[in-house]
Amino acid sequence: MSGNWENSVRRVTPYTPGEQPKESGVIKLNTNENPFPPSPMVKKALSEFDADRLRLYPDTVSKELALELANQKGVKPEQVFIGVGSDDVLSMAFLTFFCSDKPILFPDITYSFYDVWASVYGIKYRTLPLDGDFKIDPKDYMRENGGIVIANPNAPTGIYLGLDAVESIIAANPDSVVIIDEAYIDFGGKSAVGLTDKYENLLVVQTFSKSRSMAGMRIGMAFGSERLIKCLSDVRFSVNSYTMNTVSQICGLAALKDKEYFEKTRSEIISIREYSAARLKELGFTVTDSAANFLFASPKGRSAGELFEKLKQRKIFVRWWDKPLISDHLRITIGTKEQMDALFAALSEIL
Ligand code: PMP
Repeated sequence: MSGNWENSVRRVTPYTPGEQPKESGVIKLNTNENPFPPSPMVKKALSEFDADRLRLYPDTVSKELALELANQKGVKPEQVFIGVGSDDVLSMAFLTFFCSDKPILFPDITYSFYDVWASVYGIKYRTLPLDGDFKIDPKDYMRENGGIVIANPNAPTGIYLGLDAVESIIAANPDSVVIIDEAYIDFGGKSAVGLTDKYENLLVVQTFSKSRSMAGMRIGMAFGSERLIKCLSDVRFSVNSYTMNTVSQICGLAALKDKEYFEKTRSEIISIREYSAARLKELGFTVTDSAANFLFASPKGRSAGELFEKLKQRKIFVRWWDKPLISDHLRITIGTKEQMDALFAALSEIL
């Protein structure tokens, strides 16, 4: 029997994540995961974990992890918020901070989850075009708004907006919250975390998914003024008190403490990125100047969609969007040197 129940149901078009292929032997360069394993300290923490602890609810505020993060970032523990990946943190931030009648602003080409959260929470939004080189013009963000969200480095372009430009946007908008999504900041940019003491309206969001190789553990965090973080926590505790599980809290702390491994793997990714950008240019691609763990490249004069399919047939997965303005580009996650060389060999063959 079917009635009219659908009339009172919230209907949305969901975000589409990149494919997670099940077959073996795939070179997976499509979802910006880190090709290196997490720190050995994470493996150690996991192997020493006593499953009896799972009987109890986890610490609601992930205190130890928050303390270590505060310590490493030079902020107070009250300025730290932890969530289940930065998607969870961003989603909570949209729900908390974007509650105005005025539209929120974000670039037309950016992380494609922003418009999905805006839709699910009924937030008005306006997208602002990037310039012809896929760059953000800070002046565009100096107009009336109900909030701003900017990914820096931006996705899928990889382009980093300098800290002075970021600060000019925050300073020009004291009446709304500015969220800087720094999912990829560890691969080359300068973080805005240091500005959280100066601007009460700034929220900086980061993640363990990329630079700490822990996408599967789901740890994200935000930094802001104490007042801002209190607002975020109040909303979060009105939805779910126990978001962060005990194992993630312990493993996150272990990863954070291994600074040497973090530095080693992130500089390795940066050097493979620079090598890969040069190889792609040799193959005739135009490549944006990426500060992230991926490259945004266009195979001038060739169909990016066709290349995407042909690479897939060879079990090499990259990301391609059949969308205006970017359908002539591929987004290629930085893998190991061997994986990248396999990609370049396949590309030379195809081209
Ligand atoms: N922000 C941006 C710009 C991203 O590309 C991603 C990864 N899809 C995220 C946030 C979310 O990452 P996670 O939830 O794994 O922290």
